[in-house]
Amino acid sequence: MDDRRLLKSAVCAVALLLAASLAASLAFAGEAPVPEPVADQETELGKAVYEQLRDKVEIIQSSPLYDMLKPIADAISRVAQPRYEHPFKFFLVHEVQPNAFATPGGNVYVVDSLLYFVKNTEQLAGTLCHEVSHTIHHDAINRIKQEQKLEALEIGATLLLGPTLAKAIAIKMIGDLNSLAYSREIESNADVTGSDICAQAGYNPWGLVWLFKEFQDADTKQIPQLLSDHPANGTRMQTLQQHFRDNPAVFSKFNSDPKSATRLEVAKDIPVVFLRP
Ligand SMILES: [Zn+2]
Repeated sequence: MDDRRLLKSAVCAVALLLAASLAASLAFAGEAPVPEPVADQETELGKAVYEQLRDKVEIIQSSPLYDMLKPIADAISRVAQPRYEHPFKFFLVHEVQPNAFATPGGNVYVVDSLLYFVKNTEQLAGTLCHEVSHTIHHDAINRIKQEQKLEALEIGATLLLGPTLAKAIAIKMIGDLNSLAYSREIESNADVTGSDICAQAGYNPWGLVWLFKEFQDADTKQIPQLLSDHPANGTRMQTLQQHFRDNPAVFSKFNSDPKSATRLEVAKDIPVVFLRP
């Protein structure tokens, strides 16, 4: 082998090593899922919201936080997936306000600050179960249909909205996250279905009740919006606890004492890499 070829192969070996170590470090930090291709109005709106969040550089592309989220998201997806036609995908996003929200098409967005806000796995699981239930109930798309009375939406799910209209609705949907989103009844329905999913996935469904209890004492500015969008957390707690009493075969085995919770502690300053437009 002449010197140039030797040098080239040595350079290649270094490049391979670098590539391998980069792959190892990326594999170590969990990554955002790949969004679903557009197939109908729900996936179309889901994609439009995704693109808005990506353009605002809010979506976290990779972070060890995904490794923490993944086992919980996977367990919930296994139970929730048969109830919805598109795959659930969980994305981490960065916002100051602790929050979680679901969009049509199966995407669930978990704000990184929520991971620091919740005190235990059950509270986080309860929040995620609540969000996937909104998707299963088609709450977002039903609200859009109701509010916008858009002819295109009335025609049916086979007709796509087109990028301009989908984008306009997506911008409004993201704006709605900052206002009162759903009625108390719709929220309670998502709580109840969410508690069924949590129980089936093996997470103590009392987590959501514990979270509501904490809200009653917390600084209102710190309360995750979609869980606190009505001054009716008391009613929602009562509805959930009634549901638990009505279905002892499912719920009586779970401990109502928050002391039984699985503590969740997330180290500060975990590195995140943002998805770039
Ligand atoms: Zn909700």
